Amino acid sequence: MRLRRNLVRTATLVTAVTLPLAFTPPASAATADIPDVLANALSSQVKGKNVKKHLDRFQQIADANGGTRAAGTPGYDASLAYVRDKLRRAGYKVSTTDVEFPVNWEEFSPSVLQQVTPEAKTYANPADFVTVISSSPGDVTAQVQVVDAVIPVPGTPNTSTAGCEAADFAGFVPGRIALIQRGTCPFVDKATNAKAAGAAGVIFFNEGQPGRTDPFVFDIREWRFGFPIVIASTAVGLDLADTPGTTVRLKVDAKTTVGQTKNLIADSLWGKKGEVVMAGAHLDSVTEGPGINDNGSGSAAILETALKLAYLPTKNKVRFAFWGAEELGLLGSDQYVAGLSQAERDKIRLYLNFDMVASPNDVTFLYDGDDSDAEGAGAGPAGSAEIEKLFEKFYGKRGLGFKGTDFDGRSDYGAFIAAGIPAGGIFTGAEGIKTAEEAAVFGGTADAPYDPCYHAACDSITNINAAALDRNSRAIGYSTAFYAYDLSTIPDRDAASLARSAATAKRAPEDAAR
Ligand SMILES: [Zn+2]
Repeated sequence: MRLRRNLVRTATLVTAVTLPLAFTPPASAATADIPDVLANALSSQVKGKNVKKHLDRFQQIADANGGTRAAGTPGYDASLAYVRDKLRRAGYKVSTTDVEFPVNWEEFSPSVLQQVTPEAKTYANPADFVTVISSSPGDVTAQVQVVDAVIPVPGTPNTSTAGCEAADFAGFVPGRIALIQRGTCPFVDKATNAKAAGAAGVIFFNEGQPGRTDPFVFDIREWRFGFPIVIASTAVGLDLADTPGTTVRLKVDAKTTVGQTKNLIADSLWGKKGEVVMAGAHLDSVTEGPGINDNGSGSAAILETALKLAYLPTKNKVRFAFWGAEELGLLGSDQYVAGLSQAERDKIRLYLNFDMVASPNDVTFLYDGDDSDAEGAGAGPAGSAEIEKLFEKFYGKRGLGFKGTDFDGRSDYGAFIAAGIPAGGIFTGAEGIKTAEEAAVFGGTADAPYDPCYHAACDSITNINAAALDRNSRAIGYSTAFYAYDLSTIPDRDAASLARSAATAKRAPEDAAR
């Protein structure tokens, strides 16, 4: 019954969008326009007022579940059930993937740091060192190895990049405890590199400039390292670095309680399996509120796009992702990408991300895939620039403004670009303040936040900008449908094409010399 109804609807729509083509000359230019024509036809069907109906439902779900749709709460599960049922009825192949998140970290006894050789001494907790919150438990006695420290410590400014690069661990002997100076990059990056190098534990030490010498309590927010982590004073760090071959005992007695949630993944029936166009939005809110703009808006817009696209026999496979636990550290998308084989990653030709697309005091920000703004993080993987251009074309043709926003990895595209998958998307602003220049282009209020209810209880159905929701939902429909038909601007990353481009690259210098 369901499938038959879908097929009938498909036939109707295809006829409707095919008719205008009959009037265009059969030249190659017209053929190239077909994806654009189909994408515009789909775009015109993704209407803000229909997207708003899904948002009304998310609000009802939050109201019935303590005012939140956060990961691990009944409000999230009800949101997921709503989206799942809609997509199943539309004929999508729907599945879920497991996501783990930390619920609580508890320390049962103070951590221990002792020098065993060359000199037996016990460092004082908390005067000399403290446990890093989220540390795994462990009791290790091993040799300490200094990782790229700047010793002696210069005055200001900060100069240590210790452990920030995988190369810093080039000579690291697995099983040793990494002694890593603070500085430059997040602690979590340093510990991640240490884990990759086979460390059995990590002792951070404060960098050493004035005001940066004492141990201090912080949360590394990653509970899966599997080894103990503490942070010591600069003095302890220098003491341990002093004599090569120094061994220590490092013990942390703690436990993270882990919660479970799910991502929802929906694959279209149509399209080539090896050519996947992926669009994603996080479905969870923060615990403080119902999360209707952040990110009911992106979720509802891709849901409505999926429902309309279900009736189009696309050339490429389209996959929609509704991420869990984004607000807890991009966990759903991170764990999804981490769980894919290289072959599965290669099939994902691009990833479109939509996180907050209807901010009350909005600016149409486009992820700066080509780094044309030269701000913050660099350009995305090859193809990201072309994705940004497609959005620019969509808004430009309609006389609408747009502006770049740094590709800083602050939403679910982060894991995709880290895996070399090109990405792009739309963002209408969070807690940032609208400038006078932006107000001149986009309207709204200067010197006020883009979303005054960001991560607050008031991010409710009244926190939605209807005009922005309509405009951006259409752009979401357009971009998804366009790539569902045309991936010619996006580099193919499968093994065969990578080998081809490598061969071309090798020849290039000779060619240039001639
Ligand atoms: Zn968000």
